[in-house]
Amino acid sequence: MSAVLPVQTDEIISFNPATGAEVGRVPQTSADDVKAAVERGRAVFQIWKKTSFKERSAYIMRAREVLLTEMDAIARLISDESGKPVAEAFSMEIAPVLDLMQYFARNTEKLLKPAKIGIGLYALLGRTSKIIYHPLGVVGIIPAWNYPFSIPLGEAVMALMAGNTVVIKPSELTPIIGLKIGEIFEKAGFPVDCVQVVSGGGATGAALVEAAPDKIMFTGSVATGKKIAAAAAKNLTSVVLELGGKDPMIVFADANLELAAGAAVWGAFCNAGQSCSSVERLYVHESVADELTRKIVEKTRALQQDGGDKETTSVGAMSSEKQIKIVEDHIEDFRAAGANIEIGGRRNPALEGLFYEPTVITNANNDMRAMQEETFGPTLPIATFATEEDAIRLANDSEFGLTASVWTRDLAKGKRVAERIEAGTVCVNEVLYTHGIGQTPWGGFKNSGRGRTHGREGLLELVQPQHIHINKVSLVPDVWWMPYTPTAVETFRGFAKYFASGSVFQTAKLLPQLWKRLKELKKK
Ligand code: NAD
Repeated sequence: MSAVLPVQTDEIISFNPATGAEVGRVPQTSADDVKAAVERGRAVFQIWKKTSFKERSAYIMRAREVLLTEMDAIARLISDESGKPVAEAFSMEIAPVLDLMQYFARNTEKLLKPAKIGIGLYALLGRTSKIIYHPLGVVGIIPAWNYPFSIPLGEAVMALMAGNTVVIKPSELTPIIGLKIGEIFEKAGFPVDCVQVVSGGGATGAALVEAAPDKIMFTGSVATGKKIAAAAAKNLTSVVLELGGKDPMIVFADANLELAAGAAVWGAFCNAGQSCSSVERLYVHESVADELTRKIVEKTRALQQDGGDKETTSVGAMSSEKQIKIVEDHIEDFRAAGANIEIGGRRNPALEGLFYEPTVITNANNDMRAMQEETFGPTLPIATFATEEDAIRLANDSEFGLTASVWTRDLAKGKRVAERIEAGTVCVNEVLYTHGIGQTPWGGFKNSGRGRTHGREGLLELVQPQHIHINKVSLVPDVWWMPYTPTAVETFRGFAKYFASGSVFQTAKLLPQLWKRLKELKKK
């Protein structure tokens, strides 16, 4: 069996990675058709941008109803095409995106409310400033395969609520789920071409970038992110990049070890370790390392690995042969470098599909290649530290910075350490799950990305701010207008000295000079 796709044909064939069975076939969209889709999206944008937040909200809530009605079949499809357990299709894709839909349907108007800007002493001159937000146009969404439903659907909902139209290019590993997203919007009665789905691999994604949408929301590897940023630069298209991770979990000696062990197992093995925010490095205080490891190994041993369709499956199949080979390479690296495999460390011999056993590794350290490169598989390497400074240094010793977690009963210490970790999200006594909280921003430091999705910060990526400035007492010329004269220069010196101090008291000293200048301007 193989889940490697024959992308050279004009059809994408999608396989179930757990069984090798064909899930379906999708025609590839040509570059010309991708361009035409963006043009159609731009035409319908002229209509969609004029809808009120209330109208958009009603459309999104209808789409939410469609999803709720079909959720069992959709969960099954997500599991079939990605290999993840149906439990995770509900808990990590459908439930979070339903929550995101209601949140942005109900709150986007408030989040993008025009706001007054404080302009300091300029207000004394009768000026006001406010900021309003305009939609961008067409938003191109290029997601990865690991959360093939919730990531593109959530981004589309936010883009639409902000007044944009959307073209989605799903991953070539999950094309049927991609089409399902389009179908949900269609069934909800969205205007034709408001949400379009184009299908294909990297070339189709590149065609979407080339077609110059007004924004690209990309989720995927650092290598592809760099290519997209370079291609987008030709048209000055702005890009949000959600890239890889190598997320650390720090467990202090005073942590609740039972909970920390459970969190480590879930954080490392959910979605078969194929989450950008998977726990990929665990640093535990040396005094409790043995106890924590024992608990983690026990919990790992109890996990059932099987096809995603079974409700008792905790660890499903991996998405592709390519991904499983990276895991094998990293386990080899750990072994060769002297780490110990406590459990797992091989493909599951009892299963035929792309199953790699959940693997716990001890005696790992940051000099090992596999502790630096993203694995994206069900592996949990454990290293130890002696001091708080050590833990922070080890956690930050990475090119990535997506999420991190700190485990301790001392919340002051937890917050102190969290704020020193170079990552877009740091949790104290929690792990991985905040992508599921659509209200909070998501994005990385360092090579984990640029820009944000989710939260108000994510919404602001999908609009352009416009500053409206009004002079409410437009009766006299501005003193800085032409012509320039010695009186003008003296006034500007006064501006530099007094007005620019921001102090009313200082600025009062400028009044005689201002009066002189105004009289001069009136005469000319
Ligand atoms: P990938 O970079 O191979 O592909 C991602 C998407 O880009 C796919 O849809 C692909 O078809 C498309 N693509 C490939 N080449 C392209 C090109 N030249 N131009 C335009 N589009 C192109 O990544 P992947 O293997 O699908 O996903 C795994 C990666 O995604 C991991 O590194 C993971 O950490 C990351 N990821 C990050 C987040 C996050 O929020 N930061 C979330 C999920 C996954």
